[in-house]
Amino acid sequence: MSWHVLGAGSLGGLWAARLFRGGEPVRLILRDRPRLAQYRAGGGLRLTEGDTTSLYPLPAEAPEAGNPIRRLILACKSYDAEEAIASVAARLEPDAEILLLQNGLGSQDAVAARVPRARCLRASTTEGAFRETDFHVVAAGAGQTWIGDQLGTQAAPPWLETLCALGFTLRWTDDIDARLWRKLAINCAINPLTVLHRCRNGELRQHAAEVADLCSELAALLEAMGLAPAAQGLQQEVEAVIAATANNRSSMLQDVERGQRTEVSYLLGHALPIAQRLRLPVPQLEALHQRLRARLEERGLPVD
Ligand code: NAP
Repeated sequence: MSWHVLGAGSLGGLWAARLFRGGEPVRLILRDRPRLAQYRAGGGLRLTEGDTTSLYPLPAEAPEAGNPIRRLILACKSYDAEEAIASVAARLEPDAEILLLQNGLGSQDAVAARVPRARCLRASTTEGAFRETDFHVVAAGAGQTWIGDQLGTQAAPPWLETLCALGFTLRWTDDIDARLWRKLAINCAINPLTVLHRCRNGELRQHAAEVADLCSELAALLEAMGLAPAAQGLQQEVEAVIAATANNRSSMLQDVERGQRTEVSYLLGHALPIAQRLRLPVPQLEALHQRLRARLEERGLPVD
């Protein structure tokens, strides 16, 4: 049974190359025919791991290709997810499974609403990869990926074990949304501040009080949402992430520096309306969002 990977960027490239190398039938779905022509001209997908770069001649196709899709890995950014799934919706088999790799929250519901018959699995990953150039991906650090159903009611799909044998570090969870919320909270406490202070993660240690205030509001929000376990020890974990990734630039800072759209709508932009609905005051998070939007506007970037 073939895999399709939509989006041959950082994570999509990493996943697709690993599947291909492991002997799994896999096809890339690229944005359109010009992108497909560019990909074919390069001879395939390059993956650098450590000192080794390999070229994998993965088959690729445009969204409108005719073959049906049974297992799809959606590997685009959150803001592209809904349009991307719409472009292949007619090709999905009735019992299709879709693995959503998007960070933050909001895009997963939008995708599921577009394809109500498919089984949409959500992932939260600490894997890292970046694009050296188009269709050349660099694996930037091992991590693990939690996968689960939104309602946590179904069993893990049988292919989970197959993928683990290929070198993926995957874990099944009955509570994927709590994990996604925890990660969202960590991202909200770190990423916007790195943009505002134009700094690597480790420099946030000089802004410890600001980080602590944000953590306290984020933990209160998680508790108000009935996700108390996801709120526990949030500040300590944020501090540990800052220390462990001291030399890294956050994904949001990288997006801003490259002049690319950020995923803010799926992080702070997703959390704030929920706080409002719960009538929970979160003044520090509101102010952070305003400052971030002002900075994005200054840089000529979309504020959502
Ligand atoms: P990325 O490098 O920008 O790759 C996204 C890819 O999606 C691009 O190749 C883009 O195509 C493609 N795409 C967008 N719309 C498409 C469409 N309609 N049809 C086909 N392809 C389409 O992004 P990424 O870093 O892999 O991130 C993907 C998601 O994973 C994000 O939500 C991110 O937050 C999350 N994540 C990433 C990492 C990481 O280390 N990279 C870690 C954890 C989580 P073009 O090349 O044509 O633009």
